[in-house]
Amino acid sequence: MDRKALKLAFTLASPPDWICPTCQKGVLRIKKDTFFQEEGQASRDRSHEAWEPDWIAYVYSCLLVCTNDQCKEVVSNVGVGSVVHHVYQDYRGEVDEAYIDFFQPKFFEPHLVFINIPDDCPESVSEPLRESFRLFFSVPGAAANNVRIAIEELLTALHVKRFNVVKGKRRPINLHQRIDLLPRKHVLLKDLLFAIKWLGNAGSHGNNGKNEITTDNVMDAYELTEHILHEIYAPKTKKLAALAKKVIKKKGPTK
Ligand SMILES: [Zn+2]
Repeated sequence: MDRKALKLAFTLASPPDWICPTCQKGVLRIKKDTFFQEEGQASRDRSHEAWEPDWIAYVYSCLLVCTNDQCKEVVSNVGVGSVVHHVYQDYRGEVDEAYIDFFQPKFFEPHLVFINIPDDCPESVSEPLRESFRLFFSVPGAAANNVRIAIEELLTALHVKRFNVVKGKRRPINLHQRIDLLPRKHVLLKDLLFAIKWLGNAGSHGNNGKNEITTDNVMDAYELTEHILHEIYAPKTKKLAALAKKVIKKKGPTK
């Protein structure tokens, strides 16, 4: 995951290397003549005496094309932009200034893919993860919350019970307790799951500043989730043990 490409604002002179969501090999490049930017209604008002160029607010839209010749996927992208006053030293060491347009993506269709989800991962888990990828740029808090939903679904897929029956009534078991109920063989994943739970919590309640979730926090949750899913659905140790067994049985290289 290239965090810089996914979180930083970009300039048209150096757009980020977003990885193509379809082939996962090529990068997405802005298709020639498709980038449009306009100032919004409020931004166009220059009447205030204190007006400065950094009050400018753009919306933009463009098409992106995958650089992989075998793929050439087309992705549509929209976002917002602003003007940043940049003071710098030129090659003679003299101080100069410039106003530079910076852009921040808000939405991609099809959505970008942030982590590798193993083929054996149940749809009930991968579906909320894809929903999270869709929301990542526009509502990071909701993106984090969807990772939490994926974790709830993962526990269900691992047969961790969801309800206690108290006096004949079903009472939901909270996520913290469910993680504690994980079978012994997954005990090493508990801390990672608790961490995702906390990030998801912040995503659910975090509009009061203190717990506001950042795209970095969401990417933390993605990395933890990727590791957990691979440990459960595509464990390397299991694959390598099977490979070793094959070589030993053959007493030499396998074909
Ligand atoms: Zn591609």
